[in-house]
Parts: sequence; structure tokens; C-alpha cells
Amino acid sequence: MGVLTEFLKGLKVTGATMIGTIFGNELVTTQYPKEKRKKPQRFHGRHVLNRYPDGMEKCIGCELCAGVCPAKCIYVRGKDNDPDNPISPGERYGYVYEINMLRCIFCGLCVEACPTEAITMTSLFEFSTTNRDDAIYTRETLLMDEQGNVPHMFPDDPLIDENELLTADGWVRATAPSGVAAYEGVQMWQSTPGPADWSPEPSQEEIDSRSSQEHEDG
Ligand code: SF4
Ligand code: SF4
Repeated sequence: MGVLTEFLKGLKVTGATMIGTIFGNELVTTQYPKEKRKKPQRFHGRHVLNRYPDGMEKCIGCELCAGVCPAKCIYVRGKDNDPDNPISPGERYGYVYEINMLRCIFCGLCVEACPTEAITMTSLFEFSTTNRDDAIYTRETLLMDEQGNVPHMFPDDPLIDENELLTADGWVRATAPSGVAAYEGVQMWQSTPGPADWSPEPSQEEIDSRSSQEHEDG
């Protein structure tokens, strides 16, 4: 008898929930993509590379983001700024910047590691692709323009709300993954589209030898 009572009690709860759902009082279904739920402030979506209000790029090519990335999906190569025409306020700027979104786990550690808040995450998560190449985001894809607009690889995608790319969340060496010497000078993403000079950064020995040669030449 006790079991039957408990069973009926359970059935009553299930029935009440079912009726509430059918008549719309307790609907939890969101008609995505026509309707979108408001995302939490700290939502970790697609990355963006930011600029200062004067147009200078915030990235100084320090590679801290690449170093901290647990998925090893960031590739950065810095380049010295031309003093007469600097790209960033630092000594260097992010000459090559790539994120392999297929590897990214959206942990946000790159954002936390960045000393200049150059890399941030937005609220946009609609950026699925049909091929692997498109999942590798280059500097050209990530960098906001001088007016502060953030590009989307597929601007005609009906699923996207481009305003989400303007919503930043509330708030490590790829040239050699994990610092493995065997990768020094090896191009990481062989099929990356977009213009770039893929010449390897010189090794420390090469830099040292050049400076001592220059010192001797004097
Ligand atoms: S969010 Fe995490 S996994 Fe993705 S690029 Fe940043 S550090 Fe790497
Ligand atoms: S940590 Fe920031 S400044 Fe350094 S390379 Fe990454 S994005 Fe650029």
C-alpha cells in the first residue's frame, strides 16, 4: 500500500509538470536561433584581438597567451616595431597570431595571462565550420578594425548576432610547443590561409652570435 501511495505521489508530480509544460506555464524551450538566451557576463566565446582607442594594436607579441594555453592552440610570432611607424606601443607586436579553434577548450587562461588585455573573449559561439582550415583563426580574422569592429569569418551566417562579438567577457611558447626544442623553427599550422611570413625566429644562439659578431665588427 505504501509503495502504491509513493507511486501515485510521483505520478502526480510528473503529471503536474507535464500539464504545466504543455500549457506553457513552465516552458523552458528556447526557439533557438530565432530566440537567444542572455548569456552570463563571464561567458567564454570567440576571441578577439583588441586595439587601443588611437588604433594601436594592444598585442605586443609576448607569447604569454601561447605559453599558458593548456590546449597548445595559440601560435604567436612577434616582430620588432618600426620606431617610425609602430603597430603597437611595445617593442614588438603580434606579427603572426593564430588560434586553432578545434583545439581550444575556451578556458580563458590566455585572457588572464595577457599583460595588455589584447586578447579577450566575446559572447559569440556561432562559428562552426565545414573544414579544418576555417577553424584556424588568423590575426586578420581576430583583430578588430580601427573603428573597433570585430570581423566575423562568415558575416552572412544567419545564426550570428554580430553584437555578441562586441561583448567582451567580464574578465604561455607556441613557436616551440611546450618549449620542445625539436619544434624550433617548425611551422605549426601548415595549411593556414592568409598572408604571413613564416620565416622562423632566430634561435638564442644565433642572436648571441650575431651580437658578438657585431660587437667585434664594432
Ligand atoms: S581559451 Fe584556453 S584553450 Fe582556448 S586559446 Fe585561450 S588558453 Fe587556449
Ligand atoms: S599575451 Fe597578449 S600581448 Fe602577449 S602575445 Fe598574447 S595576446 Fe599578445
